[in-house]
Amino acid sequence: MRSQNIMTTRMNHLFLPKRALLAALTLLFTAFVFARDYTSLVDTRTGTNSRFEFSRGNTYPATGRPFAMHLWSPQTGVDGNGWKYTYPAKEMRGFALSHQCSAWTGDYASFSLFPEVGKVVCPSSLRGARFNHEDEVARPHFYSVKFRNGITTEMAPTERCCSFRFSFPRGEDAYLLLDLLINRGEISFSEDGRSLTGCLKTNQFGCRGLHNFFVLEFSQPFFKPDTWKASKESGAVVRFKPGSTVEVKVGTSYISLDQAKLNLQREIGDRHFSQVRNEGRKVWNELLGRIDVEGTDAEQIRTFYGCLFRANLFSRKFYELDADNAPYYHSPYDNQVHHGYMFTDNGFWDSFRSQFPLTILLHPTQQGRYMNAMLDAYDQSGWLPSWSFPGEQGGMLGNHAISLFADAWVKGVRTFDPKRVHDAYVHEVTNKGPRSNSNGRAGFNDYWEIGYVPYPENTYGSAMTLEYAYDDFCGQLFARLSGDGEWEKRFGESMFYYRNVFSSEVGFMRGRDRQGNWTPDFRPGAWGGPFIEGNAWHYNWSVMHDVEGLIRLYGSDAAFVCKLDSVFSTLPIIDFGFYGEVYNEMVEMVVSDMGQYEHGNQPIQHAPYLYTYAGQPWKTQYWVREIMRKLYNTSPDGYPGDEDQGAMSAWYVLSALGLYAVTPGTPQYVLGSPLFSKMTLTLEDGKKFVVTADGNSEENVYIQQATINGKPLDKNWITYQDITQGGSLHFVMGPEPNTSRGTSKVAAPFSVSWGEK
Ligand code: CA
Repeated sequence: MRSQNIMTTRMNHLFLPKRALLAALTLLFTAFVFARDYTSLVDTRTGTNSRFEFSRGNTYPATGRPFAMHLWSPQTGVDGNGWKYTYPAKEMRGFALSHQCSAWTGDYASFSLFPEVGKVVCPSSLRGARFNHEDEVARPHFYSVKFRNGITTEMAPTERCCSFRFSFPRGEDAYLLLDLLINRGEISFSEDGRSLTGCLKTNQFGCRGLHNFFVLEFSQPFFKPDTWKASKESGAVVRFKPGSTVEVKVGTSYISLDQAKLNLQREIGDRHFSQVRNEGRKVWNELLGRIDVEGTDAEQIRTFYGCLFRANLFSRKFYELDADNAPYYHSPYDNQVHHGYMFTDNGFWDSFRSQFPLTILLHPTQQGRYMNAMLDAYDQSGWLPSWSFPGEQGGMLGNHAISLFADAWVKGVRTFDPKRVHDAYVHEVTNKGPRSNSNGRAGFNDYWEIGYVPYPENTYGSAMTLEYAYDDFCGQLFARLSGDGEWEKRFGESMFYYRNVFSSEVGFMRGRDRQGNWTPDFRPGAWGGPFIEGNAWHYNWSVMHDVEGLIRLYGSDAAFVCKLDSVFSTLPIIDFGFYGEVYNEMVEMVVSDMGQYEHGNQPIQHAPYLYTYAGQPWKTQYWVREIMRKLYNTSPDGYPGDEDQGAMSAWYVLSALGLYAVTPGTPQYVLGSPLFSKMTLTLEDGKKFVVTADGNSEENVYIQQATINGKPLDKNWITYQDITQGGSLHFVMGPEPNTSRGTSKVAAPFSVSWGEK
């Protein structure tokens, strides 16, 4: 990056260069910029030192293309274990096609390949090949490992297919094993030994009758093919001559075997392994290069690109392209084939707050397709998705699909019909679906009747009330657009229902029963009960659409700031509370050592930004830099809790830009403290938005001055349109707070209590 600056400087000082010379230099400069290999900055093993009790990300070395239908991963754990690759493991047992969103959800429709010498061991749970981490290469587009037994495996996926290269040592019989990781499957071999076809049939996670069709093509013929079946798994084994190097092209489809062949033909075709790998590198470099970072701290830069990588994996393209390149898909909702786009594998509770507000900056076209896909999912299943994996699972709380719709709409996406959204949302909030809490609206009767979801009548009642109130703020937009005055009025009232679970007596959000009594023996640190995966310290701030309203509940900015300060200064003591046992998030909070601030989970992740609403933006600047500095790195311990489908990573990416979307469903991005001296964001249409920060350093985290497109910026926010029209956001940084910038209420970001501004 430094060389780029030098090059720019030199070009500026060229004395009347001849046109040709300038053109040549420009070309050279351009070539230099585009030669930056961002993929080499990403280690996909970040966050893999995780286990059931303690998440450092709960990630796996996801290898693939952006938002691809499949990822591929080396597998150390036995099948069915959500911790499919853990850094301390010494042995590997497969290279698996993977869809896992979270270690807590496990995988579906997965199969794996595994090379073996000497002896065949099936099922996969009984085998293991030893390896050292120094013998791995783990990049977004490419993974390779050399086992101690001399076998090297390399894989380079495309969106729906994967190219493998297996190099076997001389002197021993060489085998390649296919594990279907399920015992309902079909496999057949071609007579010429050049290909293998089949499908695995799964009913996992409620996706009825999902078939994963596959075709494997081999660069040299195999011999002695065989199949095997165990109680839970089945598979095939083929043999090659000792010392062989075999390329295997894997094509897949959820629609048909013919489509799997078409996908393979289109995505890999005649290309050799190294061509597929290089193409993957190019795709990722184009994407990662869309936020070009200049700075001096190499570890920070690597951390940034690792996060940008993870923020671009989910949701998954669940659609395929037919012979005419038209999108179609096998629906996980009604088990039929439909025309159009479909996306799956995302839990909106985790991702609406950061991952989607980043995605809509980078990929608005895809977001437009996604909005219709959610409406189609509603038509097919009767419910809006909330935790699609691949069909609706109803995980966590809230009806946050509406946040995605509202965010897309206010940011200019017009691919979908607002009336369809409104109708689906009204249905959603006045019914309860067959699956867990977020399928429809749990407790909706009480919510609409008494203005909150009572606890203990409903576990997590107060968390539900808070999340529903925010969702209804988003829902009001579509009621208005649909001309439904009645629901516009209703949502206009219910978006303030957060007030009904705020106890001024204790100064916190709190559980409340149907008669109106507060849950006794209040302890703000007690986990669970009226809150999910958190305590009152965490949920207190879940008024994303009306922070000013929350400030007023405290009576003053000073009282609000005092409460927010105490999140970080209170001892990080674990109170098992209603859970009665330790949860991984509790341990993660203690290890983070920021009081009761729990960056490891979503409910509180926007809280550091709330000082900007209360006249003390420098505290936001301090804390977001502390969080980026202390809680993220590139190591296997790289995240302070579950990474969650790009959500934790997107928090970092946005925060590094000096921005965060506290209120998705408004066009605002709230200012934090930019991490680098210069960041150039290239939008989908090629426009550029450049964030510069003079004097930025680990000490100089405080904004002294801000300008946008050269004009003074006194507010603590900018809009989506400010970014997407292109321009520049410039900061001057310093070691001490500027306590007069951004302190007025005019500078505060959006709150419904202020009205539109
Ligand atoms: Ca989470």
